Amino acid sequence: MLSSRAVLLAASRRPALRRALVGLPVTRRVVDRFVAGETLEDALTAVRRLAADGVAVTLDHLGEAVTDPATARRSRDACLAALEGLAPLRLGPAAELSVKLSAFGQALPGGEALSLELVRPVVAAATGLGTTVTLDMEQSATVDATLRTLAALRCDFPGTGAVLQAALFRTADDVAALAVPGARVRLVKGAYDEPPSVAHVDRDDVDAAYARCLGVLMRGGGYPMVGSHDPRMVALARRLAAEYGRAADSWEVQMLYGIRSAEQVRLAAAGVRVRAYVPYGADWYGYLVRRLAERPANLRFFLRSLVPG
Ligand code: FAD
Repeated sequence: MLSSRAVLLAASRRPALRRALVGLPVTRRVVDRFVAGETLEDALTAVRRLAADGVAVTLDHLGEAVTDPATARRSRDACLAALEGLAPLRLGPAAELSVKLSAFGQALPGGEALSLELVRPVVAAATGLGTTVTLDMEQSATVDATLRTLAALRCDFPGTGAVLQAALFRTADDVAALAVPGARVRLVKGAYDEPPSVAHVDRDDVDAAYARCLGVLMRGGGYPMVGSHDPRMVALARRLAAEYGRAADSWEVQMLYGIRSAEQVRLAAAGVRVRAYVPYGADWYGYLVRRLAERPANLRFFLRSLVPG
């Protein structure tokens, strides 16, 4: 039987539903909870507020799965504009970018080369500002191409980060390969609906895989980025950091904008490096649906807001 998560993620790919949801005024309220705003200025306002609370950021200009090279080039331009906007804030590595290669044309014919060509100047500009770029991870079919792009970028820009999804069986090998000095890896559970041939489907199995991968990263020589809101995983990361004698500046916790915000500030005040993933832009639909699919309570919150009164 299909889970409600699978149904929601599948339904989200239907253009008619997309048009209906995007057009609803109430959708706005739900979007505002998870997205910093539609403009770069909105995002920079959120960055300043988080920085004042001791929370670093990774900015995400929303967009994914572009269908033509011109739109892919606009993704590059938006990222370059974001870096220009960040420059006067002088936050250095405390404000980096996250990018989805599908927004840079990865899925187009010849897209692997195109996305590398378009993302390279973004990574170069980030390096010039003393900060980094992390490549988000999308559907399992894109992992090999994304890791090849990462390897190409790391030849010139070794600080470029990657995301690995604990739900995928292959990730056990991928974390081992990237638990090396200089590698920055954000470990997440995985937000995409994957077939049982490639991924754990049971939540307990995903959690167990996450804990195992976290152990490998924390024991290894790289810079682990613990991308989770799960209090058990954050506690485990802190225990492992103490056990392996990791300095406070040798790993970090990352959470999404609008989710467990008070905990982000609390952890930062307790001396843990914390970074919020701050999405902004008009193309928020895919991002929103993944947040709703992750948590039944979010879906209920959304459905309740559709009922007037
Ligand atoms: P869960 O077990 O799902 O949640 C634990 C607790 O966290 C919940 O009980 C709840 O209190 C809170 N919580 C979790 N999700 C939500 C939510 N949506 N709304 C409200 N509360 C919530 N996935 C990818 O596939 N690719 C990526 O590149 C990627 N990048 C990410 C970057 C960051 C910084 C983070 C934090 C997540 C990212 N994800 C990415 C999403 C990730 O894969 C999970 O889907 C998501 O983080 C939920 O898993 P969890 O570890 O927070 O634990």
